[in-house]
Amino acid sequence: MPKIETHVNQAMDLVPVFDVHTHLYDPSFGLTLWGIDELLTYHYLVAETLRVVAFSPEKFFAMPKLAQADFVWDALFVRNTPLSEAANGVLTVLAAFGLDPNARDLAEARAYFSSQDPREHFDKVLNLAGIKEFVMTNDPFDPKEAPLWQVRMARDPRVHAALRIDPLLGGISIGAAGAADSVPAGTTDARRFLDTWIEKMNPLYLAASLPPTFSYPDDSRRGQMLSEAVLPACRHHGIPFAMMIGVNKRVNPRLGDAGDSLGTADLGALERLANDHPDNRFLVTTLARENAQALCVAARKFANILPFGCWWFMNNPSLIEEVTLLRLEMLGTSFIPQHSDARVLEQVVYKWRHSKRDIARALTTRYEALERAGREVADAEVRRDVRLLLHDNAARFVGAVR
Ligand SMILES: [Zn+2]
Repeated sequence: MPKIETHVNQAMDLVPVFDVHTHLYDPSFGLTLWGIDELLTYHYLVAETLRVVAFSPEKFFAMPKLAQADFVWDALFVRNTPLSEAANGVLTVLAAFGLDPNARDLAEARAYFSSQDPREHFDKVLNLAGIKEFVMTNDPFDPKEAPLWQVRMARDPRVHAALRIDPLLGGISIGAAGAADSVPAGTTDARRFLDTWIEKMNPLYLAASLPPTFSYPDDSRRGQMLSEAVLPACRHHGIPFAMMIGVNKRVNPRLGDAGDSLGTADLGALERLANDHPDNRFLVTTLARENAQALCVAARKFANILPFGCWWFMNNPSLIEEVTLLRLEMLGTSFIPQHSDARVLEQVVYKWRHSKRDIARALTTRYEALERAGREVADAEVRRDVRLLLHDNAARFVGAVR
């Protein structure tokens, strides 16, 4: 390993992470999924399982969770080699807790996770992942979550809120189905709804996922909601709007959460949006590899756009290294290379350990280019850059710097 890469890796291990987008919760909510059975029934692995085993999705989802987890383990880890990134991630998690990644069944892992105190385990996981603070995804349309915001809870200062508003923009709630009837009909009601929830949650940003057909200007309901309710609310409260662009929902509805796909978007829409709203700030990630360069270009034109993360189908080591390198080449350190998007607590361990390695390789490539140009790369500069990438850029943009 080149000397500079060793320094980069050391800095990666020392700098605390600000994880700008997860699906984890403050421990006091009691909603965070954790443990081996949740890890194995993650929708990435369900999609992979139903490819290698001839089994109907309906029969799979009708099984109890433990039986689903056994089924996935047997299909992807025993009868096949777990080469995929999602499967590899489970093994990294097992090893991090001292469990055997070569186990034939789940007995040892189940015994380990069921013997953990949830609060102590939460702290241990954040430590193993190197996370200092993280942002939740808070869905006011989720009937399990919404009532929790009506009562005052003792909150963990490491955990921040983000208000997720997909149904306002014509998407579906990320929480339980059937909750969408309470979506405000007009833009005035929507603005009142946003003000009320911003007051309750104190979110660091508003967020929505958007289809590849997202356009602007747009006189549809989505366009009106965006221009007349969402962006004015963000300006009034001084918070960014996070856009996750490129998801085609439920292309195979039989697979549930595993049934979403992607498409390439026209990021001209994003540029027009940023141009018309210089007083708004946009956190943006895209799902198609084909959109990665256009997002860098849009960010070069508009300082109110901050690219973040390698989302979902982009969260593969080869693409993380490629996209991070491209972003370094076009934006220097002015972007957020990764977020975990973890849906199950322990996933942060593998998502951050794996991503740090890929980001370090991309950074090393750029430092080697500096050295070829005759510029010395000081350790202090490496640490400063890594700190911007893993912590400060995200924390500053969402106003979480204390
Ligand atoms: Zn997400």
